[in-house]
Amino acid sequence: MIICVRKIEFDSAHRLINHESKCRMLHGHRYVVEASFCAKQLDDVGRVIDFGVIREVLGSWIDEYFDHNTILSIADKKLGDEISKNTQQKIYYLPNNPTAENIAKHLLEEICPKIFINFDAECVAIKLYETPNCFVYVEKK
Ligand SMILES: [Zn+2]
Repeated sequence: MIICVRKIEFDSAHRLINHESKCRMLHGHRYVVEASFCAKQLDDVGRVIDFGVIREVLGSWIDEYFDHNTILSIADKKLGDEISKNTQQKIYYLPNNPTAENIAKHLLEEICPKIFINFDAECVAIKLYETPNCFVYVEKK
């Protein structure tokens, strides 16, 4: 199997409800996504998918919704409304806590299938670094 991986970085703030320690405070990360793609066969040029296409499609989505934004649980709507009121930011809400696990799962299961619907390649795994030493890896079942 040939897997094509594109790295995309973004800056976001988040906080984790019920975290035992500092992560319940609003804080930011330089996130690094590594999105892995597979295809049934290589295209006529010999690619799974063009690296530039991943940057264009997934990178644009990330730029619009995650980069320089705040990612919160929908249970944190009150905080989100307060931030929006003061910054005009359009907060990105997840149905659950914005852990690296839940953000990666959201990208893999909700976002990539939608934005890559017209491509022969599909996103099969997401690796998401929250810090240079800490990452999660989620694969398609
Ligand atoms: Zn954090």
